[in-house]
Amino acid sequence: MRMAQHPTPQLAPVRQRASVCFTRARRTLPIVKTAAPGSTVGAGAPVPDSVPSGVSFEGYDKGAAERYLREENPYPRALASVDEPDGGALYAGKRAVVVGAGPAGSTAAMFLARQGFQVEVYERRPEPKHDAVDTGRAYIIILIPRGQAALKELGVKLPEDEHFRTLGTVSHNAKGKTRVSKEEGNVTFSRSGLAQWLIDTARRRYPGRITYNFNVTAEEIDFKDKKIRFGTSGGMMSPARHVSYDLLVGTDGVASQVRGALAGYWGREGQAYNVEVDDSGREYKVYMGLKGNIEPPEFAGKTGASLHLYTSDDPFTSFTAHSNPDGTYSGTFSLQTGGFKDLHAPADYEALMKAKFKGVPEDWIPAAAQQLAAATPSPAGKRVRVSRMWGPGTVLLGDAAHAVTPVFGQGANSALESCLVLNQALAGAKGDVDAVPQLFNGLRLEDAHSLYELDRKAYSFFRRKGPFDPDFLQLLAHVILGTILSKIVPFIYGSRPALLRLGSGIPYSQITAAVARDAKLAVVLLLALVAFTAAKLLKLI
Ligand SMILES: Cc1cc2nc3c(=O)[nH]c(=O)nc-3n(C[C@H](O)[C@H](O)[C@H](O)COP(=O)(O)OP(=O)(O)OC[C@H]3O[C@@H](n4cnc5c(N)ncnc54)[C@H](O)[C@@H]3O)c2cc1C
Repeated sequence: MRMAQHPTPQLAPVRQRASVCFTRARRTLPIVKTAAPGSTVGAGAPVPDSVPSGVSFEGYDKGAAERYLREENPYPRALASVDEPDGGALYAGKRAVVVGAGPAGSTAAMFLARQGFQVEVYERRPEPKHDAVDTGRAYIIILIPRGQAALKELGVKLPEDEHFRTLGTVSHNAKGKTRVSKEEGNVTFSRSGLAQWLIDTARRRYPGRITYNFNVTAEEIDFKDKKIRFGTSGGMMSPARHVSYDLLVGTDGVASQVRGALAGYWGREGQAYNVEVDDSGREYKVYMGLKGNIEPPEFAGKTGASLHLYTSDDPFTSFTAHSNPDGTYSGTFSLQTGGFKDLHAPADYEALMKAKFKGVPEDWIPAAAQQLAAATPSPAGKRVRVSRMWGPGTVLLGDAAHAVTPVFGQGANSALESCLVLNQALAGAKGDVDAVPQLFNGLRLEDAHSLYELDRKAYSFFRRKGPFDPDFLQLLAHVILGTILSKIVPFIYGSRPALLRLGSGIPYSQITAAVARDAKLAVVLLLALVAFTAAKLLKLI
């Protein structure tokens, strides 16, 4: 089956970074050797980013390896406590192909490797640290307990560097009033930083079991014969690579080609396959490198990441500032889709920012305006719903299966949670690789659909259809009634409304059920109140 081809990504110059060479070993202890400076790593061999412990080393120069890590690796290390493949070997001898090396791809790869698969990850872009277009910390991802649970299950320690610790969010409203919410226990990454950290962790924990291939794009899938064709960047002359697999994992993001191919497959089989993709209706541009003293007393002098959210009278228009380890701030400026077309010169941005936001430091406005006028807008997220997250020998997870807009900060967190569910399916299938996809679908589909529903309902805030928008009223009823009930009957209702516990691992389907239940209860209580008042007025009681 043919799939639409992505445009060839711009290639950043790839640094030669091999002073340590790792031989490819299958189910045996890996051997680490030093290589001559400047030599390249053998084809397909993974380059470790830390020294694995608990493995045997022959001809291994520890000093050289540590120097390499210190000097070459700009990303946090000291992450994994166990570097030897752990877990079972249920799927020993099976090959898993993962399409996409985003947060979901690397996390899924680790679960697969832990269950015994030989895993190959294929990514159409360069490795994040070599990708010039994807550096910077303007677009951040906060890992909350829901996403952290997958890493905990894998035994992966979160970065210990203080700068990754989330201090919390400072909300600046349209009138300039601020509200501080402390968020202890969360970890803040840049989007590419999270992807790179997971790649580094996967390589370190499963050397020889997980290999990464960059600048290769999935182009064609034969689901019946379990074969996938990848094109390598470099124009028409570059060779295609055909790869066989036992399990294919589509983690290729919101515009997933694996999903597109699955839709074609199910269509040819005469089975309905629905994919809904909604746009968030917002676009954003990024700026970087601004300095200023904007922290509230709660965060002043503390090391950690803070997020400042400046809102305006129009819910689509917002400005964020995120603290970086070097003391600068970077962030995004968002508008309703199409809004950037009316802004041309830096002066246009300055005028809009002055009119819309209170509290953005005055000297930031001209500097940010300069950068914003020169930047290209990106869409601020899409929402995806698929009727099946599987096909023969194939699972779909992460944004490819259930992307959401950034409104609740659930995208990457739900992607990692899906990897945890994949792990449950792997265990449940007890080594029967063909049973995994349907099992995974059965365990995850309802929650993925509930997540879509929550995101869609939350979007009523942006649409502002008015006070009688049923989506808005349902969420409002749940939050207000739930807060009251949790105060007066916590032993029956629980500690907080489920929606306010979104960060925990509470299943999305339970949250949508709680929203629907409380909305109904609110209607019943309202009707009872009206009936009571009418009866009182008519002196019936
Ligand atoms: C502005 C914005 C803010 C966000 N903020 C948050 C937040 O605060 N918290 C949160 O949890 N989430 C947030 N998200 C969402 C989050 O970024 C995604 O949910 C997350 O990155 C999904 O991970 P993934 O691995 O499924 O997909 P991706 O990160 O999209 O990774 C997919 C990978 O597949 C590769 N690929 C695509 N096609 C192919 C192909 N054919 N062959 C090979 N490789 C391919 C891509 O290059 C990419 O590297 C935000 C998103 C946006 C847009």
